Amino acid sequence: MLRVGNKLLSKGINGFSMVELLEIDGSMGEGGGQVLRTAVALSALLKKPIRVFNIRAKRSNPGLRPQHLAAVKAVANITGARVEGLEVGSRQIFFNPGEIKSFDIELDVGTAGSISLVLQAMMPVLAFSPKEVKMILKGGTDNPKAPPIDYVKEVLLKNLSRTGYSADLKVERRGFYPRGGGIVRFESKPVEFLRPFNMTDFPGLKSVKIFVYSSKLPKHVAERIAGSAMSHIRSRLGIEPVVEYEIMSGGERNAPLDPGCGILIIGVLENGFAFASSALGEKGKPSEKVGSEAASEFIRQVEHKAPADKNLADQLVVYAALADGVSSLRTHELTLHTLTTIRLVELFLPVKFEVEGGIGSPGGYRVVGIGFKR
Ligand code: ATP
Repeated sequence: MLRVGNKLLSKGINGFSMVELLEIDGSMGEGGGQVLRTAVALSALLKKPIRVFNIRAKRSNPGLRPQHLAAVKAVANITGARVEGLEVGSRQIFFNPGEIKSFDIELDVGTAGSISLVLQAMMPVLAFSPKEVKMILKGGTDNPKAPPIDYVKEVLLKNLSRTGYSADLKVERRGFYPRGGGIVRFESKPVEFLRPFNMTDFPGLKSVKIFVYSSKLPKHVAERIAGSAMSHIRSRLGIEPVVEYEIMSGGERNAPLDPGCGILIIGVLENGFAFASSALGEKGKPSEKVGSEAASEFIRQVEHKAPADKNLADQLVVYAALADGVSSLRTHELTLHTLTTIRLVELFLPVKFEVEGGIGSPGGYRVVGIGFKR
């Protein structure tokens, strides 16, 4: 093998002989699943073969978990990629992308693996696919440490629509831990190029919605979650949010397999950009705490007058780098996830992010995107 900078010329690996591989150290920065997902997404989009090693090295259970396997497989399937190392526990994969060839896709993430995180890996590819893609995804819709599915719809996709990329989803059934079984329909219309975005102003709030969902739990659980979030927001921000419930007893045709509950607080700014904070119910966690957790994060962001929530900041990095022009974003909390994604994107694309602020503090970024064309 011959190394050239962070590139690698590799011989003799099935399907990879003499191709130039971009080497990605999966332990960089955050060193978790997002490095892998973003690397695979960009590899597929830019048709750059990659080797990712040290996968999830900074996690207590390093290597590919079923959840990450599902995301890589999903991208591989739609792009006809050749992949090696796709096994649970694997710490290295080779990913050699092909052309996108499937447009009507049914995909089972398996158990309660997060559908949102699989979408995170697929969406940059789908945004530039040769034609419209329709998918049915099965798995978890509301998982710890992953975007709740309604966040994807009401925040990520809503904001991305400003770039011209149009995608929408419908939750047919929620899937909670441990069995998952959620069903989501996802439709994506590709774009020629992405318009850049400017998320630096906080012009004031047009609306605030508290959305609480629960299934197979007493009705008072959802009401207490909402009540607690409401009273925090009312007293600290002087705002009266709209409250929306989705309460299922368990007997409904589309009731989730397992009990579960959660809250998403969505703010929409006067300029149309959206942000959110969320929390999931857990056994033994008081409902009031679920509500106050989400509310405190929401209040913190509004008090900082930051238009992007901390999760959105990392999820928009790829799109900012691909867009045609200057994008910028300000958040109330810059995370290691965001800085790691920036570093990773800079390995793939000739972009240089200007970052302001440090981890855990308010900050943001600005980048001249490459104007990627379909
Ligand atoms: P690992 O198991 O290796 O930690 P993972 O695959 O679960 O990794 P991360 O690398 O931690 O994932 O990435 C999680 C992604 O989910 C990030 O993009 C983060 O912004 C997003 N995310 C986590 N929690 C939320 C939330 N509450 N709302 C929106 N997005 C979220």
